[in-house]
Amino acid sequence: MTLTLKCFCGVVVQTDSENDLVAQVSAHASSVHDLDLSRADVLAMADIAEH
Ligand SMILES: [Zn+2]
Repeated sequence: MTLTLKCFCGVVVQTDSENDLVAQVSAHASSVHDLDLSRADVLAMADIAEH
């Protein structure tokens, strides 16, 4: 399973674990955009491919 999330700023985060994706995207959102994203927010934005 591959999880990909493309931020509106163009940064792409790709990982094979939900926990990893949530951790990386929340860190990016809070440090770069000053946004506080919940796990549900991150997963709703993610593109999940079963490979
Ligand atoms: Zn961004």
